[in-house]
Amino acid sequence: MPRLAERARRSVRAKLLALVLAPLAVGVPVLLGLVWTWGNQSYQRLLTYKISSDMVTAHEYFDRVRIGVGHEVQAAAESHRLALLLPRQGRDAEMSGLLANLAVARGLDFLHFLDRDGRILASAHNEFAPADSRVAWPVVAAALAGQAHTTVERLSADQLAGIDPALRRRARLDLVPTRAAAPDPRSFEDRGLIIHAAAPVADAQGRPLGVLEGGVLLNGNLEIVDRINAIVYRDGSLPLGSRGTATLFLDDVRIATNVRLFEGKRALGTRVSAAVREHVLGRGETWLGTAFVVTDDYVSGYEPVLDGRGARVGMLYVGFLEEPFRNAMRFALGALFVLFAVLSGLGTVLSLRWARSVFQPIERMNAVIQRARQGEAGARVGEVASRDELGRLAGEFDHLLDTLAARREELQRWGEELDAKVAERTRELSEANAHLRHAQQQLVMNEKLAAIGELTAGVAHEINNPVAVIQGNLDVLRDVLGEAADPVRGEIRLIHQQADRIRQIVTKLLQFARPGDFAGYVEAVDVNAVLADCLLLTQHNLDRRSVAVEQRLEATLPVEINRSELQQVLINLIVNAIQAMPDGGTLTLASENWLEHDQPMGVVLRVRDTGHGIAPENLSSIFDPFFTTKRGSGTGLGLSISYTIVERYGGHIEVDSRPGEGAEFAVRLRCEPIYDDAPEAPHFARRWDIAGKI
Ligand code: ADP
Repeated sequence: MPRLAERARRSVRAKLLALVLAPLAVGVPVLLGLVWTWGNQSYQRLLTYKISSDMVTAHEYFDRVRIGVGHEVQAAAESHRLALLLPRQGRDAEMSGLLANLAVARGLDFLHFLDRDGRILASAHNEFAPADSRVAWPVVAAALAGQAHTTVERLSADQLAGIDPALRRRARLDLVPTRAAAPDPRSFEDRGLIIHAAAPVADAQGRPLGVLEGGVLLNGNLEIVDRINAIVYRDGSLPLGSRGTATLFLDDVRIATNVRLFEGKRALGTRVSAAVREHVLGRGETWLGTAFVVTDDYVSGYEPVLDGRGARVGMLYVGFLEEPFRNAMRFALGALFVLFAVLSGLGTVLSLRWARSVFQPIERMNAVIQRARQGEAGARVGEVASRDELGRLAGEFDHLLDTLAARREELQRWGEELDAKVAERTRELSEANAHLRHAQQQLVMNEKLAAIGELTAGVAHEINNPVAVIQGNLDVLRDVLGEAADPVRGEIRLIHQQADRIRQIVTKLLQFARPGDFAGYVEAVDVNAVLADCLLLTQHNLDRRSVAVEQRLEATLPVEINRSELQQVLINLIVNAIQAMPDGGTLTLASENWLEHDQPMGVVLRVRDTGHGIAPENLSSIFDPFFTTKRGSGTGLGLSISYTIVERYGGHIEVDSRPGEGAEFAVRLRCEPIYDDAPEAPHFARRWDIAGKI
């Protein structure tokens, strides 16, 4: 349930639907409530109108019956036969017979002739007991006064018997216990309700002779109630199977009725409900509305029946069974409700379907946003059925996504291009840096070498002179001593040789320091022959260390180079290799042609040893001037000078070594050199160094 509320809170469709359906959901019940209330009220009002008019009709008819009884009595009073008989007083039997005939003919239940004092002189039946004057009865009094009159009267059992004992018997009714009636301890009703009429009787001259008093007993008088019922509720006047009823009450007891008890028996002796009794008999008002009558609810009209003194002595009732009307009304309202419900349901379903189609584009856009957020770049709303603003919005949304995707791709492409450019620039920069670093190192090395060259040149000059003095004086010493010098002749010759060696070395030093003075010439050199020379020059080193030599001399191309410079380079490499194998090993000398795309470029000379090798951290430093691992014996200049010589001719030296496995130096030389402008000093350094090594 909360999830549903949450969904409704987040969904525009749900909100708008609620907005549209809320009036329907609230309005329809309110409308139905009003229809129900108004329908009920109108129904009640309609029934009340009907019963009111029924009551009027019943009242009229009952009045007519009452007046009719009066007329009958009056007609009897004025009858010719009575007029003929009256002068002959004392003929009672004849008089009684006449009254009996008149009573039957006029439909009266009793008929008396009273004298002018109101005492019964003759009666339609013979059992009457002469009684007191009846002048107390309003109708009798009025007739004695010359005025015919009719009323309804309630008579006690004795009063009935006073008129006619048979009436007393007829009037008696057993009371039937009735639900909702006011309590009554009696078990029977013996009073009677009569229509009481009296009319004056006069002789031919108009002199009053007495009064004719007659009437009709209403107790058990079914004819009257049936007639009332027949008039008020003619056949077909009550639809839907309702039935009309009419009743005469004496007080609250039904004394004449067509209301049926069970099994079709008339409900005589039953009593009206306490509420109706209080309303009609207690307050004297007419009851119009629904009342419980014997066994069912009836739409009922009760009005009081007044006697000649205005006292409420009974009630007149008409009514009809309510249930068929109520059922019809409920059916109509029920049908209306069902119709409303069906229409509302249909309306809701249609609204929901319609809303779905209206909101489809928005919901699809929402789904696309979710998918796009999860990284699905190709998510699109696609074709939507609606052509309204939302449909167009969905189209524009797709267009927007397409544009965004295109921009993103473009940006990505730019980014990649930028990355590539940055990488290229970085590479170029690092290359430039490497060049710069190399140039810087070269410069530093050159300056160092130049300084050393100057120094060496000065020192060589200074040494040359003392050496010449030593040699000259040695010659003088030998000449002067003559034969006396024989015992030390060997020592003198040794001093001479060593001094000569000093001079030669110094000459070479000078040669290195001033290469311009000793510039050698460049010629096409057979590298294999130079390698063989170098091997000869270093033979004594090889012998000392028991190093085996292997040669693979396969180069055939000549290279243009100064022969002695090449010799210096190779001797440097060979001596280093021998020094790396103090406990012996194998020295391999190899040469091969250097071809590129089958084009002869030059030669590659390889000097390989099986010595201790070079530590990886030293590999980048071995060509630096003064870098040496041979503390005390090395100068650190050999490789640096070799590198410089080879580079000057446009060649290259590479090294490949693993510690413990030896080292291989490869010298790449061009057939035709590409000259590099090398400084002067390295020449000196080279030569000085090579001299030291050999
Ligand atoms: P030096 O021989 O006087 O030390 P070099 O410039 O000729 O100077 O050599 C520099 C260093 O390079 C050497 O001290 C040595 O450590 C290393 N080196 C050169 N050749 C070899 C080799 N064949 N095997 C091992 N180390 C070598």
